[in-house]
Amino acid sequence: MRSLDRLLVVAPHPDDDAIGCGGTIARSAGRGATVSVVYVTDGAASHPNSKRYPPEALRALREREAIEGLRRLGIATPPVFLRVPDGRVSHLSGRERDLAVAALEACIDATACDVVFGPWRDEPHPDHAGTAALLAEALARRSPSPVALSYAVWLEVVGTPSNRPGAGWAHLDVHLTAEELACKREAIMAHASQVSPLIDDDPEGFRVLPEVLDLWLQPVERFYVDPSVAAERVSTALHLGTTIR
Ligand SMILES: [Zn+2]
Repeated sequence: MRSLDRLLVVAPHPDDDAIGCGGTIARSAGRGATVSVVYVTDGAASHPNSKRYPPEALRALREREAIEGLRRLGIATPPVFLRVPDGRVSHLSGRERDLAVAALEACIDATACDVVFGPWRDEPHPDHAGTAALLAEALARRSPSPVALSYAVWLEVVGTPSNRPGAGWAHLDVHLTAEELACKREAIMAHASQVSPLIDDDPEGFRVLPEVLDLWLQPVERFYVDPSVAAERVSTALHLGTTIR
C-alpha cells in the first residue's frame, strides 16, 4: 500500500491552495508529509486598472504573497508558478494547452506525489474548471496515477445545482482544529492584494468580501472523491481524521 505522504496541490490562482485546503496542508505538513504546490495562473488580472500594480508588478506581488501564505501553513518548499495568463485557462490554444498539461505532468513526476489536490471540475469559475480539466488530462497520462481529491472555492459562494457533484461522488470532510483554522486564516490573509485595500487605485479590482471569507473559514474542508477511489482507504492512509459520506 502506498504511503500517501507526498502531496501535490494544484491551485488555479495564488490563494486557492489556502482557501481550498489550507487546513489540510497545515495538518499534513505538521505530520511530516511533503507538500508541494503549483500555481497555474499568474494572478495578474485581479486589478486590471491599477497604475501602481501593472500586470508584471501584480504577478510579482502575488507570487510573494503565495510564498508567504505557504510559510504560514508550514511549507518551505518553493512552489512552482506556471504563469498561464490569469483568466485564460479555459481559452488556451492547442499548443498552450499541451504545454500546460506537460508542465503538470512534470510536477506530478518530480514530486512523486501519492495524492493530488485540485479544483473541483464543475466549479463556477472558468480558470478553476479549466485547471481541473488540465489536471485530469495530466493524471490520465500517468500510470499508476496519484489519488485525486477535489476542493471547491466558488461552489458555495456562487454555485448553482448544476455545479454540484452528481450521484456517485463521495466526499471526505476534514474537520479542522482551532489551530489549523487559525493557520488557514493567516495563510489566506497573506494574500493582502485580494483581502485588503492594499491595491486602492482600481475601484473595479477584485476584493474578497467579509461574508465570502466567512464561508471559506468554516471549520471543515470538503474534498470530492471520484467514485472509483476507495475514499475510506485514502482517509485512513492520510491520517486526516475525516468523515466520509
Ligand atoms: Zn481562484
